[in-house]
Amino acid sequence: SSSSSSSSSSMAADDDQGGEEYLFKIVLIGDSAVGKSNLLSRFARNEFDNNSKATIGVEFQTQVVEIDGKEVKAQIWDTAGQERFRAVTSAYYRGAVGALIVYDISRRTTFYSAKRWLDELGVHCDTATVRMLVGNKCDLENIRDVSVEEGKNLAEEEGLFFMETSALDSTNVRTAFELVIREIYNNVSRKVL
Ligand code: GDP
Ligand code: MG
Repeated sequence: SSSSSSSSSSMAADDDQGGEEYLFKIVLIGDSAVGKSNLLSRFARNEFDNNSKATIGVEFQTQVVEIDGKEVKAQIWDTAGQERFRAVTSAYYRGAVGALIVYDISRRTTFYSAKRWLDELGVHCDTATVRMLVGNKCDLENIRDVSVEEGKNLAEEEGLFFMETSALDSTNVRTAFELVIREIYNNVSRKVL
């Protein structure tokens, strides 16, 4: 399901069965056309769309993941094209406890931009926000412009998780989102339970 709404903080709150209900806000950031919208549609609906305009307008999608027998809701925010202006609004980041910083392994400029996106994230979110550097389009090995090593090194320097993905052929898409969600869950569990 996709929806427009004001942002809400991620939290663990009691539900009416007396258990916990988890809702985590996760943001997708990175240059235009690196594949953010397709990563989200692959994860949420197992769909890929060559027409990048198709997903503009979607603000977030909520995806339910089961972790340790508990239902965890990930509210994943897409930029809705805002990044075309080379930044997204502060409302976009508000309450985010996870972030995927995406670049395109076939376009080096998008890799350089990852640092700038990290800086912007740092302005709006505290250090507890779980961060993953994502090198998308790893199916484009024949025109690779950024090595796996460079991605790993940047992630290590900046203290980020790292994964190469392909929204086109599904490589690591679920793994990447679920790793971030699990890490957030682990952090929250340690604090709240
Ligand atoms: P966004 O602007 O970051 O949301 O990027 P989109 O998801 O709209 O994708 C931009 C373009 O890249 C579209 O033409 C997609 O079909 C294409 N694309 C997205 N992900 C992949 C991928 O993993 N591999 C390849 N080869 N193309 C991709
Ligand atoms: Mg998009």
